[in-house]
Amino acid sequence: MAGRKINVIISQAPGKNPVKRHLEEEIATQLILSGTAEVSVVPHLYDLTSDHTGMLWLKSLKGDLVVLGWLYPRAIRWVLDRNGVKGKVGESRLNKIEDENQDDDEQQSAIEDQGESISQGIGALDVPNRLVFAIDLRDDPDPQTYVKEIERIANVMTVPLVQISGIGFQSSSSTQNTKPTTNGESNLNGTPHSNGVSHTNGATHVDQSTSVEQPASAPVVIAGDGIRRRWYPVIDYSRCTNCMECIDFCLFGVYGVDLLDRILVEQEDNCKKGCPACSRVCPANAIVFPEHKTPGIAGAEGGPVEDFKIDLSKLFGAPSALEMAVLERDVELVADGRDAVGATVGIPKRQSGASTKPRDALDDLMDGLDALDV
Ligand code: SF4
Ligand code: SF4
Repeated sequence: MAGRKINVIISQAPGKNPVKRHLEEEIATQLILSGTAEVSVVPHLYDLTSDHTGMLWLKSLKGDLVVLGWLYPRAIRWVLDRNGVKGKVGESRLNKIEDENQDDDEQQSAIEDQGESISQGIGALDVPNRLVFAIDLRDDPDPQTYVKEIERIANVMTVPLVQISGIGFQSSSSTQNTKPTTNGESNLNGTPHSNGVSHTNGATHVDQSTSVEQPASAPVVIAGDGIRRRWYPVIDYSRCTNCMECIDFCLFGVYGVDLLDRILVEQEDNCKKGCPACSRVCPANAIVFPEHKTPGIAGAEGGPVEDFKIDLSKLFGAPSALEMAVLERDVELVADGRDAVGATVGIPKRQSGASTKPRDALDDLMDGLDALDV
C-alpha cells in the first residue's frame, strides 16, 4: 500500500448470521492488515436513527467514503443522505459494467456525467464535494472482491498521508475526524463495549520516521445492542420530482415538506411494517423500501430488463401496481380501526393517468409474480 487510506464503513447485517459476520470480519481484517483503509463497523444502517452513535460517527467522517452494507447501493446512498451523510455518487466497479479501455479517472468522470444527465429529480441538498461509494455485500461472498475494489478506489480517490507530531502517519482526511473515545478491549468480531464505541487492536506497522512500532489503524466499532428493526420509505431525490403524490396518498402522516416545500419523510416510524404501498404510487419510482423483497422497490437500479416492457397484470389479470397500493393501504387502515377508502382518496392524478405509469418492467414483473403467488 503506497501510503494512502480511505474511510471504509462496514454496515453489519441485522441479526447474527455467521456467514455474513464472517465476510464482514474478513474484509475488515484484510483492509487493516493491508493498511488500505480507516475501518469503521456500524450496525445495519437502515435501522439507525439519526441520533444514534453510529450515524453521528458517520457524520463526523470527512473525505471520500466507501460504505459496504447488506442493501442495494441506491438504498445505502439515500439512507445516508437522509441522515446527513452526503456526497456525490462514487460508482463501484462491482455495480457497473465498465468500459475496459477507460482508466479510473475517465470512468469516474463518465459516471458522474451520466448521473447528472439522466437525473430528472430535484436532487439532494447541501452535497459536499466528496464521493460516497456504496457497495452491496450481497454481490459476492469472497472478501477479496471487496478488498481489491476498495484498494482500487483508494488508489484513485484518497488523500496522501500526513505526519502527525512526529509520532506516526495518519490520513489527512482522518485528521479532521473526531474519533470517539478509545477504550481498549474489543475484537474484530464487532463485539463492542456496552457504552457504544470501541477500537480494536489491529496489526502493527513501523513508523519509519521514529523506528517505533505504531499500531495499525484499528477499526472503530459501534455497538448495535438494543437496536430495533425499522420499516420506512426512503426518498431517492435523484428521481423525485416533488409531485407530492406520496403525501396525498399516505394516510398515516409519514410524509411532510421542508421549509423549501420539498417532500420529505417526516414521521418515518408511522409507516406500516411490510407495506410498500406508496412506492407503487410514486410516478418516478423514487420511493425505496430497502428491506422489501421486490428488487425494484428495495432500490435495485434495474438493468437490461428495464427496456423490456411487459405488464403481467394485463397478461394474467393480476392487480395493477395502483390497485395493489390501494389494497395495501386499505389493509393498514382497517388494521388501525379505520375505514377503508379504496381509490377515492389521495390518487386523483393516478386515477386520471393510471395507464401511463412509468414503472419499469422489473417492477411489473415482480409485482405480477407477487400477486400470482408463484
Ligand atoms: S410521489 Fe415520488 S416523485 Fe412524487 S413527491 Fe413523492 S417521492 Fe417524489
Ligand atoms: S407504505 Fe403506507 S404507511 Fe408507509 S409511507 Fe407509504 S403509504 Fe404511508
